[in-house]
Amino acid sequence: MFITFEGGEGTGKTTLIAMIKEYLINAGKEVVVTREPGGSKIAEKIRQVLLDNHNTEITPHTEALLFAASRAQHLDEVIIPNLDKIILCDRYIDSSMAYQAYGRDLGEEFVKSINTYALNYMPDLTFYIDLDPEVGISRVNKNRTDKKDRLDSEKFNFHIKVREGYLKLVCKDQDRVMKIDGNRSIEEIYKEILKVILERLWM
Ligand code: C5P
Ligand code: MG
Repeated sequence: MFITFEGGEGTGKTTLIAMIKEYLINAGKEVVVTREPGGSKIAEKIRQVLLDNHNTEITPHTEALLFAASRAQHLDEVIIPNLDKIILCDRYIDSSMAYQAYGRDLGEEFVKSINTYALNYMPDLTFYIDLDPEVGISRVNKNRTDKKDRLDSEKFNFHIKVREGYLKLVCKDQDRVMKIDGNRSIEEIYKEILKVILERLWM
């Protein structure tokens, strides 16, 4: 089962994945945890290029193409060979739709067209953790002591567009994408998500 976790900055995706992984491993399941951009050697290199240049030199089209390239490598190396296990993936194509198609205004058509390969391997289940970007960004910045690592609140409009993009995706694909209220404790969110996963796994 291929499960993805989506949401803006500071929504707790990585923490939630670690908690769910631990539960499932203890229950004797085979679990693969991975992330995008990245998740394999080449894909992590592409991630480095993307994050080093984030919001600076890279043009939106190049950025979207690199995310798609990283995804293709990650699909071939990690996702497809493990589809018989439980894959917990931190971000996937919905991130490209929210960040590149909506956040960077590239439009759905362009982003979908460069991601046709990934469209053949859509997740079985996606949790979109919804949170006001103001809350998410302040959470992230509280944990980053080095000022240069902090998220820029001037880019606020961008994050608002990303959230709007995600909310549109949730409406369009209600069978796959489940919206989770991210404005609660991580424990509460964990319990809600775990319940859904266990039902799907007949556990
Ligand atoms: O998931 P994580 O927060 O580690 O993502 C790394 C960065 O890449 C984030 O700051 C996110 O805003 C950005 N990103 C993006 N477009 C994507 C996926 C991630 O701009 N499609
Ligand atoms: Mg994270």
